Amino acid sequence: MSDTTDKIQQIRSLLDELATAATSDEHALFAHNFDALELPAIVSSIVDYLQPLLRPYESAIYWHLFRNSILATGQQFVRASTKGMRQGVITSSSGQSATLSYATVQDTLAALEDKNVIAKVGDTTRNGTLYKVNLPEEIAICQELMAQDKERGIQPVDEPRELDYYNVRENRLKVFERDGYKCHYCGKQLTRFTATLDHIQPASAGGDNSFDNLTTSCLHCNSRRGNRPVMDMYADGKDNNR
Ligand SMILES: [Zn+2]
Repeated sequence: MSDTTDKIQQIRSLLDELATAATSDEHALFAHNFDALELPAIVSSIVDYLQPLLRPYESAIYWHLFRNSILATGQQFVRASTKGMRQGVITSSSGQSATLSYATVQDTLAALEDKNVIAKVGDTTRNGTLYKVNLPEEIAICQELMAQDKERGIQPVDEPRELDYYNVRENRLKVFERDGYKCHYCGKQLTRFTATLDHIQPASAGGDNSFDNLTTSCLHCNSRRGNRPVMDMYADGKDNNR
């Protein structure tokens, strides 16, 4: 009996280790994958899809956190303190003071968290709280706006250059956008930093770089699959429809 309990305990701690390893892989990936050339697209999507949904203080604090995370380090994580954001971020809306009240900053952070625009990912220390700064593709309220735009249809797909969705940067983003930045295999929500492209029919088996032969995958699923076609993933008889 206690033998079983021990084993369950062991399995639990192994799972914990795996989860931790996966998270640190991802942290490394954020730093590794960040590409300054993508900034214009990121900033545009924030202005188009996030900013219209924010109040002025929320917007100011979001950009402040963006500047100190993605711009400063190429990562989506930043430690920030309420005290530190009272001054130098935005002047109070009354125009009376260059300093925000403690409560205003707290309320604004809470509102941003409610909308999943930022997420608390660590404990609060003397240096502040660790936040993850989300991008529009990770934020549900933005996804709705993005989907509406997509429905209006702005992308004709027949220029020769557009046939290559693997090597052309803006085309890659179209595949990710079509898939909602979710991993085709495990459903995990990704960002343009973490999403990778996977050939449904591998290039080695004659698969091309067309829109339909590419799918969004997280790094784990992509490397796990290696060069095997999609079907192999489901060789155990599970549903293999897309
Ligand atoms: Zn995955």
